[in-house]
Amino acid sequence: MTKFILIGLLSGLTFLSSQASAQEDLLEIPSSDEEQILAPLLELHEGGQAKGAAQGAGETQGALLNGTLLPQTGEGYSASKSETSRWGSGMMISLIENSAKVVATQFPGTLLRIGGIAQEFGGPYRPHKSHQNGLDADIQFVGTVKYESVLDKSGAVTDKFDLEKNWDYWRLVTSQQILVKGKPVSAVSMILVDPRIKTYLCKAMEAQGGPKDALDEEVMKRLRPTEGHDDHFHLRLKCSPYYAECIDSRDGFRDSGC
Ligand SMILES: [Zn+2]
Repeated sequence: MTKFILIGLLSGLTFLSSQASAQEDLLEIPSSDEEQILAPLLELHEGGQAKGAAQGAGETQGALLNGTLLPQTGEGYSASKSETSRWGSGMMISLIENSAKVVATQFPGTLLRIGGIAQEFGGPYRPHKSHQNGLDADIQFVGTVKYESVLDKSGAVTDKFDLEKNWDYWRLVTSQQILVKGKPVSAVSMILVDPRIKTYLCKAMEAQGGPKDALDEEVMKRLRPTEGHDDHFHLRLKCSPYYAECIDSRDGFRDSGC
């Protein structure tokens, strides 16, 4: 098993001895091997750092430090032409780039289509309510080519929505784990979809006899019904343990939310 080292994050990355009295100031930091196993698709250290909250005001207003720019195209993805919206935390940009490669292998010819992430220095980004700290990304439903609703006029989910591709993608990102208080938890905070899509997903899961494993349950918990997400979903990540000034938002549901 890999050894843990203790780092006093609040004392400016000074190494502390094991007799340090302020135990609450110490976090257990895994070796990079362990991090790689928990989250092979995530870069937790390098690149842009999220500061503040994804959606905050005043002291909690989000910002992006040393932002990482997502190139407009790469293996398995294509992003907006405008550079303004392509900045993110190292964690989010690495996840987009690495997960797109997995999608390209699993579903040849399918491109991830990336919308807004954050501005170069983060902060409020109209018309988005969040997207302030580089931990949010808008992604077109996997398998769609045009940016258009996957619902018909009556609000029913159409075959523009590819259940298998989207579900597989959400499983992939949700399977990435970080250590929070020594416990592995998903690096995904929530995935916002239109309420009618959430209902559709709940019914689809029920029809197949419930979640097939714990990861299915974790995905369903994170799918939060939110208006305005019928042509894309919104992926929010938790703070990397290495983002010293990052504020996590409320997670997905405790249960399936169905
Ligand atoms: Zn969004």
